[in-house]
Amino acid sequence: MIAITSHNTTDERIAEIVHWIEKHGVSAHVSKGEDRTVIGIIGKADPVMAEQLRQMSGISEVIKISKSYKLASREFHPADTVISIKGVEIGGQDLVVMGGPCAVESPEQIDEIARLVKAAGGQVLRGGAFKPRTGPYSFQGVGVEGLEMMAEAGRKHGLLTITEVMTPEYVDICAEHADILQVGTRNMQNFDLLRKLGTIQTPVLLKRGFSATYDEFLNAAEYILAGGNPNVMLCERGIRTFETYTRNTLDLAAIPVLKQLSHLPIISDPSHGTGRRELVEPMCKASVAAGADGLIVEMHTDPDNSMTGDGVQSLFPDQFANLLLDLEKLAPLCGKTFSTKKEPVLAGSWKK
Ligand code: PEP
Ligand code: MN
Repeated sequence: MIAITSHNTTDERIAEIVHWIEKHGVSAHVSKGEDRTVIGIIGKADPVMAEQLRQMSGISEVIKISKSYKLASREFHPADTVISIKGVEIGGQDLVVMGGPCAVESPEQIDEIARLVKAAGGQVLRGGAFKPRTGPYSFQGVGVEGLEMMAEAGRKHGLLTITEVMTPEYVDICAEHADILQVGTRNMQNFDLLRKLGTIQTPVLLKRGFSATYDEFLNAAEYILAGGNPNVMLCERGIRTFETYTRNTLDLAAIPVLKQLSHLPIISDPSHGTGRRELVEPMCKASVAAGADGLIVEMHTDPDNSMTGDGVQSLFPDQFANLLLDLEKLAPLCGKTFSTKKEPVLAGSWKK
């Protein structure tokens, strides 16, 4: 259930209402909008309480949220969530481009790719140090050393970094090194991992499970939000269908649907969504046209020899740079801005 305040309700009055709600053994999440505040009541609220709340001064409406997820819903939080990291805003006016290899392979490899991502106008360096592989004999990533290599490359070239975390035990060390933590498609419903990510404030990019419905996806995000971490972005990365020509089917409709159902930023991943290099560029553009807040794109300097099988879906550096030049022209037609010439990422930390 949510309670919406009247236009002139003061902060003091809101605090009194929150206190009153919490006395009933449920919790209150306050979300301030431009001219009204939404108070989300999380827990079992009885109808008598709802009626009392409706009668209170300072409250204009009380609405029952029908969805199983609450904090992730647009009803609860009408304004778009904007996640701000060292001067880069995700979910705001600017389109955000994350680029880099599937896996961190060596300090030289990640340094060179970081240089090229920055030169092209990307804001975030991607790269996995821990890789979730289908088979146990495949390359599993270089581990903690890879985190250090990425952090160093990000610092040197003025890029934010994003890397995948697979288990709750590795959340803290990954958060020490990276600006954004990625939850992979295979872990979307790893509830222990999601709960652990709820206990920190580091932004999380949650990938959609390859067979997850929108409802399941948003409920997975709800685990992180309910734990107390509001910095969640959703990532459409393709779902499994009967089609085998592409690795997955990038569900473009997910972008406007999730925008409707949720206030969280939406990132599209056409690399895993198609599995084919030649489809990445058109699907990036289609994602921006569909309303994506950002893109995550695999790029490699030597894709034929990349250590995961994802070289076939990785752009060459010149393709990546040309794509970003095109996005600079396309973004304004789609309600976004994007410039290939950027200020350096701010020094210092968003963490308190
Ligand atoms: C990746 O980003 O390299 C990755 C493994 O993604 P996904 O979890 O979407 O397969
Ligand atoms: Mn990959």
